[in-house]
Amino acid sequence: CGIVGYVGGQSAQDVVVAGLKRLEYRGYDSAGLAVLADGGLAAAKKAGKLVNLEKTLAEAPLPAGTTGIGHTRWATHGAPTDTNAHPHLDNAGRVAVVHNGIIENFAALRAELAERGHELASETDTEVVAHLLAEAFSSCADPAEAMRQVCRRLEGAFTLVAVHADAPGTVVGARRNSPLVVGVGDGESFLASDVAAFIAHTRSAIELGQDQVVELRREGVTVTDFDGRPAEVRKYHVDWDVSA
Ligand code: GLU
Repeated sequence: CGIVGYVGGQSAQDVVVAGLKRLEYRGYDSAGLAVLADGGLAAAKKAGKLVNLEKTLAEAPLPAGTTGIGHTRWATHGAPTDTNAHPHLDNAGRVAVVHNGIIENFAALRAELAERGHELASETDTEVVAHLLAEAFSSCADPAEAMRQVCRRLEGAFTLVAVHADAPGTVVGARRNSPLVVGVGDGESFLASDVAAFIAHTRSAIELGQDQVVELRREGVTVTDFDGRPAEVRKYHVDWDVSA
């Protein structure tokens, strides 16, 4: 339902949780986040309101990191439980993904992954993406290319945002029939389903086009289509007030 991604110099946990709060008005049933830190990936997720997640984080803080992603879920596949909340990770815990929308062909992809020995923990349509990204990344070692390869296999409507422990300082996102906006800051970059999530940090934005993938780094962003062709980006200034 709500998505936030961040890479920069600030605490990713702080920026992501604050961003998710700005998206609360949309309604949701669970929340979670993942942060890249110390060469690894740490995640926390909780059914219920954001305050539940914040309580969990206060009791067991994630290691400090400056690259992260977060999600508020509105369940479509699988009950609103801690396990079904996003992010979803691959079996090695090296990839984390959050997702808005529906992956229509998830059942076939689940069966295919199970045959290759993957163990899926949730009832969601989303989890297949984490496993597919991990497989793709293990052969191309490029998070944006892995995202493109996986998106070409997906049917349905989706916004996807992912981090890889082996690609520190990078967040990748993709969209088809579901919104995703990039925020371009000074030495920091943002991704969100709605500009409200990052307007406190930057008003310079890029609206991703249909079937595009973005690679987010501190220094800036690169946008391509699902086949890897560079896409033209249209930067605009968000001048409306979102304090309401
Ligand atoms: N279909 C996904 C799920 O049920 C994502 C739902 C959403 O857009 O929040 O987990």
